[in-house]
Amino acid sequence: MTTPLSGGCLCGAIRYTVSAPISALRACHCTHCQKTSGTGSSVNAVMPSSAFALLQGTPRRYVDTADSGRTLYRYFCGDCGSPLYSQRQANPERMVVRAGSLDTPPAAKITANIWTKSARPWSWIDPATEQHAANPPA
Ligand SMILES: [Zn+2]
Ligand SMILES: [Zn+2]
Repeated sequence: MTTPLSGGCLCGAIRYTVSAPISALRACHCTHCQKTSGTGSSVNAVMPSSAFALLQGTPRRYVDTADSGRTLYRYFCGDCGSPLYSQRQANPERMVVRAGSLDTPPAAKITANIWTKSARPWSWIDPATEQHAANPPA
């Protein structure tokens, strides 16, 4: 049993814990992650939703039509704007947590890069990682 990881938004209004270990991170270079992050990609920990618990605050939800065409819920702090996590409408059992919102970095490295076809020219993609032009196969 590992100690739960904790995280939250910049202003502290939203706090959460993660009870599952994080063994890998995934960078998403889709154009929507670029807009919501204000940079080249989002870096995420994909986990079962059962491992995630909100402790404090209620994130705002933006209903996005992702580059894939799927409906994606993007959750963020309505006060400070920090992106926190996202969930596919069709897969509520899984969630994609923004790794930078964790209080302490997990030891995991980025092992996969997705949506590399829209990666910004200045984004570095480690050639040793798994790479997918769009979404990884299911
Ligand atoms: Zn906040
Ligand atoms: Zn993305």
